[in-house]
Amino acid sequence: MIRVHDVVVIGGGQAGLATAYHLRRLGLDFVVLDAQPTPGGAWQRAWDSLRAFSPAAYSSLPGWLMPAQVGETYPDASHVVSYLGDYEQRYDLPVIRPVHVEAVHDEGRVLRVESASGTWWARALVSATGTWWRPFLPALAASAEFGGEHLHTVDYRRPSDFAGKRVVVVGGGNSGAQIAADLACEADLTWVTRRPARFLPDDIDGRALFDVATARRRALDEGRTDSGGVASLGDIVAVPPVREARDAGLLKAQPMFGRLTRTGVEWADGTTAEADAIIWCTGFRPALSHLAPLGLRRTRGRIPTAGTQALREPRLHLLGYGDWTGPASATLIGVGRPAREAARAIGELLDLA
Ligand code: FAD
Repeated sequence: MIRVHDVVVIGGGQAGLATAYHLRRLGLDFVVLDAQPTPGGAWQRAWDSLRAFSPAAYSSLPGWLMPAQVGETYPDASHVVSYLGDYEQRYDLPVIRPVHVEAVHDEGRVLRVESASGTWWARALVSATGTWWRPFLPALAASAEFGGEHLHTVDYRRPSDFAGKRVVVVGGGNSGAQIAADLACEADLTWVTRRPARFLPDDIDGRALFDVATARRRALDEGRTDSGGVASLGDIVAVPPVREARDAGLLKAQPMFGRLTRTGVEWADGTTAEADAIIWCTGFRPALSHLAPLGLRRTRGRIPTAGTQALREPRLHLLGYGDWTGPASATLIGVGRPAREAARAIGELLDLA
């Protein structure tokens, strides 16, 4: 006899926990399956100096404000990890780990969730597996020519690992800027970006970004003109270390190079830079391979959704991957609302079934 849950949530990072909170409030029967051995999702893998770009109270999941970190306005990653672990305990969320879900199959009335550690059945599914686990590298990175070290954002830990080395950091987003700022004093740094680096105004942190995202959502809901939201303001949050490095003249972005050489990189005009390592801060893709058997994948690896609900599989909701699953849904403070809406929609669907 198999046990069928109302809902299985795949992924126990911030998005999975926010959803679990709302599923619990609705009294649904669910489990959360998480591949990591310990709580904290991607925050456990962050580099040493990473800090949230909003103060603690503005980095909170539904129900419980993140406590402030003593002596810090912007909490560090270890503080976020502790908060997520405490959040699980506070609401007694049924997270099972480590469980890496390999595949989800449609069995008609139920969905079968397969992993090496067991099989679960559910009437509805939430996928909240994040992006950190699928780093993206541009085709250029596959060139066998370069004899140095290739790393991605996910591999970077601390500047002392690169002391005295020649390092090229590629990428004009937050990861690229923060890692470049981190390395600026210890390594011989070349920072390259595809378009000129666009810093957000210094007084804009995650709080203000959330307000902009909220205003945009309201405008779109009311049929007003799209302001472009956060993306129209810039790419890089000028968190204190980035601001300091930029103001000290240490963060000067070069345009993207054209090719890799055996010993470094080369621009179209023949200029070269020698490198011991290249750190590709070139982003991520949603980690959705477990959903492949459902045959829902479409453009750029994304599944078409209305809000969080998959268009072609109404029993499936996706949370936390980016704006396409709700404005600011890849942030701690922003995921609460889409999580609530997803839980509510699932509750209604199961009531009707
Ligand atoms: P994750 O945290 O990645 O959690 C997903 C969980 O699912 C993980 O535990 C993973 O192991 C698990 N999983 C994956 N695949 C499977 C599977 N097949 N089966 C079972 N489990 C699986 N956000 C903020 O709110 N504030 C910030 O200040 C902030 N700063 C950032 C700064 C940088 C430089 C970057 C890169 C990101 C920042 N973010 C910030 C974003 C935030 O870190 C991530 O978006 C967030 O971790 C996403 O949460 P998530 O729950 O969607 O995914």
